[in-house]
Amino acid sequence: MATPVSITACVLHGPKDIRIETLPSAAALAPNEVTVRVTSTGLCGSDLHYYNHYRNGDIIVREPLVLGHESCGYVTAVGPDTTSLQVGDFVALEVGLPCGTCDLCSEGRYNICPDLRFRSSAKSWPHFQGTLQSEINHPADKCYKLPPTLDPRLGALIEPLCVAMHTHRRAALPPNSTVLIIGAGAVGLLCAAVAKANGHRVVISDLQPLRIEFATTHNFADAGFVVPLSARGDTAANLATAATVAGQLRDKAKELGGVVDAVMECTGAEASLQTAILAARPGGKVMLVGMGTPVCGSVWGGGEARKRGKGWIARPNEAGYA
Ligand SMILES: [Zn+2]
Ligand SMILES: [Zn+2]
Repeated sequence: MATPVSITACVLHGPKDIRIETLPSAAALAPNEVTVRVTSTGLCGSDLHYYNHYRNGDIIVREPLVLGHESCGYVTAVGPDTTSLQVGDFVALEVGLPCGTCDLCSEGRYNICPDLRFRSSAKSWPHFQGTLQSEINHPADKCYKLPPTLDPRLGALIEPLCVAMHTHRRAALPPNSTVLIIGAGAVGLLCAAVAKANGHRVVISDLQPLRIEFATTHNFADAGFVVPLSARGDTAANLATAATVAGQLRDKAKELGGVVDAVMECTGAEASLQTAILAARPGGKVMLVGMGTPVCGSVWGGGEARKRGKGWIARPNEAGYA
């Protein structure tokens, strides 16, 4: 039952002002909690937004914030009500803590609980501090045992992998679908990997040739497409550009013998969202995974989308809207 006398934490105080600090040890362990010695934390796009701007979209940091929420580590102490874990267990952390009592929580959709507290997010107050610290206390039922032989760096990928798996489940694709992944960053690659593991054909696109090369040579996707960088113009020009790119992506799907049954949009950029909607087949699905631009204009309203035979749009991501 090791209790550290102090904690080393990586604390953000302002834009690009991050400091390694020694903090007092965590509060007393609650009966349902365990103490985890954090071994690995991945950096999410949201962490980078907070680091660069001290905000993430419209969420503004109001007190010093410890970043990081893609984490794993070893249990070093267990609360008295905890029976599922033991000291020494290697665990991945689920870092969104729901209220547990609202309608959404009761339906099992607790990831979009309106009162969700998410580590390293400045949305709740006081902020729920992230995992870039040496030890944290966390509810035992939000810690998942991993094989002790797993590389800790891979343990940190469980959280973004869950985003990809949730996206896949929400898309509910029939077998042998063709999936377009827009954005070949970490979450895009994981969405591609989950789609491939479930037997679907995958086309992946990105602005960066090296990312596409990585995705295709490592078999994350069956085909890749480098989107040419083009300047944004007025609405008509932007939609014309998106239509051109969407046509090229549909051609890629055709080369694989399919049509774009679903798009997993993993950038959050307005241009990509426009392309996603235009690329999907009539009745297809567009999954909004990326959390980039807060407001994406120039997309169809419901009536026009239905007229064009598009399917429903869902946002399955960790912060959750749908
Ligand atoms: Zn994240
Ligand atoms: Zn709730």
